[in-house]
Amino acid sequence: MTMEIQMVDLKSQYQKIKQQIDAGIQEVIDSTTFIKGGKVNEFQQHLEDYLGVKHVIPVGNGTDALLIALMGLGLQPGDEVITPTFTFIATAEVVALLGLTPVLVDVDYDTFNISIDALEQAITPKTKAIIPVHLFGQHADMDAIMEIAHTHNLYVVEDACQSIGAVYTFADGSKAQSGCMGHIGCTSFFPSKNLGCYGDGGAIFTNNDVLAIKMRAIANHGMEVRYHHDYVGVNSRLDSIQAAILDVKLKYLDNYIRARQVVAAEYDKAFSNVEQLIIPGRNLSSTHVFHQYTLKLNGVDRAGLQTHLQARGIPSMVYYPVPLHMQKAYKDKRYQEGDLPVAEKLAACVLSLPIHTEMSEKQIQYITENLIDYL
Ligand SMILES: *Cc1c(COP(=O)(O)O)cnc(C)c1O
Repeated sequence: MTMEIQMVDLKSQYQKIKQQIDAGIQEVIDSTTFIKGGKVNEFQQHLEDYLGVKHVIPVGNGTDALLIALMGLGLQPGDEVITPTFTFIATAEVVALLGLTPVLVDVDYDTFNISIDALEQAITPKTKAIIPVHLFGQHADMDAIMEIAHTHNLYVVEDACQSIGAVYTFADGSKAQSGCMGHIGCTSFFPSKNLGCYGDGGAIFTNNDVLAIKMRAIANHGMEVRYHHDYVGVNSRLDSIQAAILDVKLKYLDNYIRARQVVAAEYDKAFSNVEQLIIPGRNLSSTHVFHQYTLKLNGVDRAGLQTHLQARGIPSMVYYPVPLHMQKAYKDKRYQEGDLPVAEKLAACVLSLPIHTEMSEKQIQYITENLIDYL
């Protein structure tokens, strides 16, 4: 019998919290405070408390969060910003949009995150910032990254779009929430993200008061005082209705993370002794919130496997099929095919399986059995 599985089951998740969500949306409509104020301020405060960070700046989406972060740092055309080549395009897109120079570096085969060796080798006198991406919900090596940034006087902007709620433990034992370690952190509330709203949304995190005031102004047409524009800004806001939804879902974030970790543990158990499948490697300094559960296939026809799964109602995705240095829009003399071999190898062998907050034991078993059947 075929089961119909989804990559993410937002409908079942909604059914369980429908009353609270509907009440939150209705409250915004009754208040007619659709932009700023009210629910946006409440959610901002609750997220600041959850993260233990001084400033949360709600914005329109995760890409805007990254853009405004770089604008806030006052980087100038020609400045180099180092990012991993194995990530979602937004990370490098904002760098290019601002006329800054994206410097794409290779990643670590086990964890999919920025390679510390590659990062160190990429630093030049023009380097101004590093954007580590905590890919699939697990932190990059933040001990090393913060030390390198300190030594070379670089800014760190964390792309925490996939990792909200993950916790990092530094070598000295101190702990930090995702996006709260660098100078600035950025997240996305895209519906399928771990803390997702019902449309677009995003936020910027920082403990720096000066940067917070400036970035808040930039997100609001560059104005601190109404109709006085101190910076060239943008218009990027989190709607009140989205804030109301997020304020409900934030209460469940830790439960949602645990549910994802349970699924990942079941997958690990089913696949860890299968030679053709390599389970996601762990950074022991970080919890993993499993925005994605991503296998590496070893000598398996990926397209064939995907077709086999799809025929049995099981979706799967390739995050990401083409590293950024091989994208048409980002082609550059600086990079030839083969230059960033780990990312290129990963792009050819990764496969992400369904993982979400509503998955049942039965569904997990159905997926693992059908996958192993193909091998
Ligand atoms: C989702 C995502 C973004 C962009 O977020 P949007 O809200 O879709 O703009 C940026 N970086 C990474 C790594 C992401 O996963």
